[in-house]
Amino acid sequence: MAEPEVAVPNADLFDKIVNLCKRRGFVYPSAEIYGGFRSAYDYGPLGVLMLRNVKDAWWRSMVQLRHDVVGLDAAVLSPPAVWEASGHLANFSDPLVDCTNCKTRHRQDNLDDPNTCPSCGKSGTFTEAREFNLMFKTQAGPVEGAGHDVYLRPETAQGIFLNFKNVLNTTRKKPPFGIAQIGKSFRNEITPGNFVFRTREFEQMEMEFFVHPDEALQWYEYWLNERLNWYIDLGIPANQVMLRPHAEDELSHYSAGTSDVEFMFPWGWGELEGIANRGDFDLKAHAAAANEKLEYFDQASGERYVPHVIEPAAGATRAMMAFLMAAYVEEEVNDDVRTVLKLDPRLAPYKVAVLPLSKKDVLRPLAHSVLEALQPHMMTEYDETQAIGRRYRRQDEIGTPLCVTIDFDSLDDNAVTVRDRDTMEQVRVRVDDIVDHVTEALGF
Ligand code: ATP
Repeated sequence: MAEPEVAVPNADLFDKIVNLCKRRGFVYPSAEIYGGFRSAYDYGPLGVLMLRNVKDAWWRSMVQLRHDVVGLDAAVLSPPAVWEASGHLANFSDPLVDCTNCKTRHRQDNLDDPNTCPSCGKSGTFTEAREFNLMFKTQAGPVEGAGHDVYLRPETAQGIFLNFKNVLNTTRKKPPFGIAQIGKSFRNEITPGNFVFRTREFEQMEMEFFVHPDEALQWYEYWLNERLNWYIDLGIPANQVMLRPHAEDELSHYSAGTSDVEFMFPWGWGELEGIANRGDFDLKAHAAAANEKLEYFDQASGERYVPHVIEPAAGATRAMMAFLMAAYVEEEVNDDVRTVLKLDPRLAPYKVAVLPLSKKDVLRPLAHSVLEALQPHMMTEYDETQAIGRRYRRQDEIGTPLCVTIDFDSLDDNAVTVRDRDTMEQVRVRVDDIVDHVTEALGF
């Protein structure tokens, strides 16, 4: 697929988003009072809402609106046998090089020039590449050194394969069907960076779709389209997202095809999600190692087979960053610059803000009754300090689609003003109709 014409990297956008995230409470550096910890980030009051909305949107599309996918929440810790069978102990590694001049460490496969250190610019200073396993290992048991080795999962997918038989036996699902899971994964990345794009602790949204081997290609194509369109439907412009099929030499030995959904990040195209046609590799590997039958018996046809698997594997934290970047707009309004996050209302942290025009006590009871009418239906923000114009700008900057203002006339006409984030248009709405009006305007 050709790269769309209009999307170009925008280096400024990166700093603007990192700054906005910190300043407004989306994402904070983890352990910041101790100087920060580049491996991980903390999601603040707005970030926790938005990240949850990203995961909810995925769950809704992958589980709730389908009849052929069920959910799962498997353990984060698992014994070495799992990772031996899956191939992660032997193969889940990146080639690591150290610069002998400036002592920095790099992933060899990510270097523009494999002989030149991007940190100090010197050539020929790298050590031989070593394979570095990305899994975090720890000990289970109370006595240090005497416990059993366990690993933090580097992907959620294996928990799904381990439960294939449980799900088959306890639900009425049969191929084609899927098992979906959202949760934290851990990878000891050599070079975490680009904000939450690459961290050592992150969240994934993965689904394994089990199909008859003859139908694998058709379902692979189906999931490519579904997954690309999910991002577009939630507001990423079609020219900033694309499918990139893996070249022959990028494919895992068992994969009959993999494509990445890529987004135009400020530094260029980067992966949001991988969609892989994994064949029967995983089920067969676990069946052999655990001495179990991981297969499906079709009673109607009398056929017994190991299903093939199509896997859409997305990053929730990475997707949230892409949604923020795609939504960020600076507009000139009355000789001033207005910063707006034009987030889809489904992803916006707060759906509506209730803003009494003044802090005066007389407006408070009505403002609170509007707030309490809206709160059971959606996340509602309340703010009564500063000039109203500045409060609108604060809400624009965090992507709140609607503001409801209570003014002194409201006390007489029992009506309030509803302002739209994108058009800045204002309409007067009766207090009694506010929940219906807001719900309809948001489109849920
Ligand atoms: P990359 O090539 O960027 O290291 P990957 O191909 O190893 O990623 P997958 O194993 O396919 O990634 O994982 C699925 C998704 O999980 C990725 O598309 C990404 O969105 C997310 N993901 C993977 N590693 C990280 C990480 N270290 N930090 C944040 N998200 C990640």
